[in-house]
Amino acid sequence: MKTDKPLLEIIGVDKHFGNQHVLKNCTLSVKQGETVVLIGPSGSGKSTLLRCVNLLESIEGGSIFFRQSDITQSNVEPHRLRQDIGMVFQNYELFSHLTAAENIMLAPMTVLGINRAEAEAQALELLSKVRIPDKADSFPDELSGGQQQRVAIARALAMKPKLMLFDEPTSALDPEMIREVVDVMADLSAEGMTSIVVTHEMGFARRAANHIVFMENGEIIEHATRDEFFGGSVSQRAQRFLDQIL
Ligand code: ADP
Ligand code: MG
Repeated sequence: MKTDKPLLEIIGVDKHFGNQHVLKNCTLSVKQGETVVLIGPSGSGKSTLLRCVNLLESIEGGSIFFRQSDITQSNVEPHRLRQDIGMVFQNYELFSHLTAAENIMLAPMTVLGINRAEAEAQALELLSKVRIPDKADSFPDELSGGQQQRVAIARALAMKPKLMLFDEPTSALDPEMIREVVDVMADLSAEGMTSIVVTHEMGFARRAANHIVFMENGEIIEHATRDEFFGGSVSQRAQRFLDQIL
């Protein structure tokens, strides 16, 4: 059923690490089908914000609603939530002793109880989707970085998540491999996958982002539509950052 309520609502989130205030009253909502690109200098809190959404970090203030329920309440099972929220990291984190297909099959079989044949059929479909249909039997160390990252994306998709979080998915890759991962993420956005993508690939933002959010020192400083952002109506702080990365 379609609803106008955001799929994800981060409201006034605060967090410290020791005496460092790493998230300051952060508010962000993401509607079903939207792609939000999150940018900002290293150390500004981007990863921490994503990790809070996936309950890899706890918050001290504020709330996070996913599908209209507050996931920061103590009765929420992180493992259950992570079935609906897929996450892809900079360093792929594949299981090195499993093939590409087995990496993708593992959670559907062990968590969802899907049988092996069905899980394998789904893995092959997902490998096609991420444009490496012939790599099912390859082990991670036989794949390029770009191929490994696409297996990681397929693995996350195997749980049929409602929301995908990407944390600098291309920043460990050689330039020629960035494009193949960006293309896969852009395909997903075009198909209507809701996602938050931390990336400095502004080409991806231009192609796929509905909104662009700029963070600095733990604060969300700017929240612009793609047209506003690329139309030049960005704050000086965001512009200074862009001048450095472009
Ligand atoms: P970004 O992803 O934007 O580079 P992070 O969210 O990783 O930023 O980090 C925000 C700040 O929090 C940084 O100053 C970082 O050093 C600090 N930080 C991140 N994780 C931890 C942790 N587990 N313990 C202590 N400090 C942390
Ligand atoms: Mg980070």
